[in-house]
Amino acid sequence: MSDNSADIAMPSGPDPTAHWPVDLLVTGAELVATMDDERREIAGGWVAVTDGLVSAVGGPGDPTPQAVKVLRADGCLVTPGLVNTHHHIYQNLTRSYRAANEGSLFTWLTTLYPQWARLDEEAAYVSAWVGLVELALGGCTTTTDHLYVHPAGAGDLVSAEIEAAVELGMRFHPTRGSMSLSQKDGGLPPDSVVQDDDTILADSQRLVQRWHDPSHGAMVRVALAPCSPFSVTPELMVKTAELAERLDVRLHTHLAEDADEDTFAAEKFGCRTVEHFEAVGWMSDRSWVAHCIFPNQAEVTRLGAAGVGAAHCPSSNMMVGGAGALAPVAEMRTAGMKVGLGCDGSASSDAASLWMEARNAMLLGKLRHGPAAMGARTALEIATRGGAGCLGREGEIGELSVGAVGDLVCWPLEGVRFAGAISDPIDAWLRCGPVDARHTVVAGRSVVEDGAPTAFGVDEMLARHRTASERIQAPTGAQPLPLPETSRESVVPTTDSRVVRESAGPCGQVGVREW
Ligand SMILES: [Zn+2]
Repeated sequence: MSDNSADIAMPSGPDPTAHWPVDLLVTGAELVATMDDERREIAGGWVAVTDGLVSAVGGPGDPTPQAVKVLRADGCLVTPGLVNTHHHIYQNLTRSYRAANEGSLFTWLTTLYPQWARLDEEAAYVSAWVGLVELALGGCTTTTDHLYVHPAGAGDLVSAEIEAAVELGMRFHPTRGSMSLSQKDGGLPPDSVVQDDDTILADSQRLVQRWHDPSHGAMVRVALAPCSPFSVTPELMVKTAELAERLDVRLHTHLAEDADEDTFAAEKFGCRTVEHFEAVGWMSDRSWVAHCIFPNQAEVTRLGAAGVGAAHCPSSNMMVGGAGALAPVAEMRTAGMKVGLGCDGSASSDAASLWMEARNAMLLGKLRHGPAAMGARTALEIATRGGAGCLGREGEIGELSVGAVGDLVCWPLEGVRFAGAISDPIDAWLRCGPVDARHTVVAGRSVVEDGAPTAFGVDEMLARHRTASERIQAPTGAQPLPLPETSRESVVPTTDSRVVRESAGPCGQVGVREW
């Protein structure tokens, strides 16, 4: 920890008071961890926000701005808002679903697909509303969502969740997910939740045109996200990459979530899964992938050279990743990959606290490479600047510097859980706890204040969520299909050997219609 407040950047121009009063002043912090380019840590620091952007950062020796609103951060560590780079929010409608909890992820999925086929706009809206509030309580200010289930006739699910984010004031990066391989074509999901390529691509373009905002400080940006290289056709991967290039939006998918993916890719494409990812045109800095647990070192080097991002999902990996599911986080960062954090749905982790994911990332880092390998500062870096890199917003989100967005969290390091932790507030933040946000601020506006959501109607929304959950979880009478031993969210089953045999071909082969 260092107090270098004498070097603090003040508002631009010769007169630091020219922009006073600021809209918001967060002051009295025990420590402000700016995560700016110099990683300044300011004891007794304060942060000012004007027009949704950070307008000044200062220390106790600097003139304090006049402010329209003041938030006290006494006893708090102040950090940039945490960035969630992988999620499936709708899954909170079937959280900890007993009928699936004892099985592998594959069994879990085939048990739940018939329930998810009941998803509609109301369910998408309330699940997003509740899920975004949950994220805000855990210190998240920017989140993605990967909504890849689009039942026939369900309506505009992505717009429904965007409307919840806009209403709450959360910074949102929804991805237009997709699945195009159903059971009849050798895929995993039932016909009712998959779509054809033309429908997927047309809806992707429509959503980008309606919602995507490329401007600095944007609150909504849309990305395109086939569920995985193995739950959609190679043609859709290629066409989606081409569409993303034309619309200038980002690309997201699951990759290397399980060692079995490579077995599957060898049978299907005659190459490894990362090679297939490259062959369909996704090896670029436009892409960020979820998990990336099993690339070999040569693949990590190639992914890093291309600038691909990775959403590290520690809780999910521990829940369902299986033996050896320790993502090579340090190696990916060394290779130049942009590594962020993800809570990965209310499915494989059943919780959505970015604080918990940061702590678990730290613990897994220590487990993989020893106690000195991953400290709280590195975990905080991944949770903030790493996430900004995944989303193509470096310098804009994930740091508290003048001109960056006014997204921050005040973490109370007080009470019995932090007693005695007085030597380093950042280490204490992750080594002690658990802790929720006292204040979560997005674009200068509180979404959590004094530990409670600022949005009205939480109880009413929870009641609507309960109604939707009960409807979706009601018995369907559907029986899960018998499945192979290998079972992953992103792996198409190999139950039909004819399909595998006929589809196998050179790496990157597209135009395979046998699927
Ligand atoms: Zn996922």
